[in-house]
Amino acid sequence: MSGLLSVVIPSYNEEAMIEKAAYAIGWVLQSSGIPYELIFINDGSTDSTWDRICAVSATDPTVRGVCFSRNFGKESAIAAGLAAAAGDCVAVIDCDLQHPPEKLAEMYALWQQGYEVIEGQKSSRGRESGAHAFAARSFYALISKAVGIDMANASDFKLLDRKAVDELIRMPERGAFFRALSSWIGFRTATVYFDVQARQAGESKWSTRALIRYALHDISSFSNAPMQFVTILCALCLTACGIWALICLICWIAGAYVSAATGLALLMLLIGGGILIGLGVLGFYLGRIYDEIKARPRYIVSRTCGDTPNK
Ligand code: UDP
Ligand code: MG
Repeated sequence: MSGLLSVVIPSYNEEAMIEKAAYAIGWVLQSSGIPYELIFINDGSTDSTWDRICAVSATDPTVRGVCFSRNFGKESAIAAGLAAAAGDCVAVIDCDLQHPPEKLAEMYALWQQGYEVIEGQKSSRGRESGAHAFAARSFYALISKAVGIDMANASDFKLLDRKAVDELIRMPERGAFFRALSSWIGFRTATVYFDVQARQAGESKWSTRALIRYALHDISSFSNAPMQFVTILCALCLTACGIWALICLICWIAGAYVSAATGLALLMLLIGGGILIGLGVLGFYLGRIYDEIKARPRYIVSRTCGDTPNK
């Protein structure tokens, strides 16, 4: 079986990387004799990324491009790539070559053996600054708990069979989290380990703040635990109040002086704090529901270049 492999490459302000990525990935796949197409998704870049993609696709018939009307984020770029892919299997790889293209041949071989989801796992996280490494570690600790799968070394570097891709495309949710959804859908899964390479050009698009926002978003799309936390908090508040009331009562019976103001202030703080936290969590989820219910498209395509291969 030698089916067409579509390689989806999300690209945001990657002008220095387009030719390099097309060449490096193309070289690996050609030398392994794998039939392929490369699909660059220009995620609203403000530099000349789109011109580079068009230039490469004009000279190389295996290269196609999809251009977003603005920046919609990497998750949307992956979704657009999956929807555009014509292949019997689809791989997703970063444009900055931090995911080693050589591994694509290994993933493809596993797909030929009948695996339907081939996950790229990081065996090392590459070079990261202290704050970035801390933010990333906290994020993965939280998300692993929420998803119930150890995600510490998960990545977006994956190869999926057409069946898995069709399931992902069918999902209506807007705030999809590709990295976890590819585990959630099940199927026969294999893992390929890779070392994260240093970025070849340009810089990372993730700030610590963006990562925290991303973490909250992804946790809420996979878990309702924070909402149940509100109920637990209420129960805790009530118990604390009961104990407090009991202590006051015992003190009063024993004849000790209890300042009513102290007790009241403490109780109010306790209850008020609990309610406010609860409201915050509920509001956060309400916001997510509102976003989903608006059912806006996850991305808007403004242009495309290159031809879809005939299969
Ligand atoms: N990316 C994207 N849209 C964005 C941010 C990033 O398509 O809004 C792409 C980016 O071009 C790269 C990949 O996602 O191909 C990974 O991004 P980056 O290297 O900045 O992330 P990091 O490797 O630092 O996690
Ligand atoms: Mg990167």
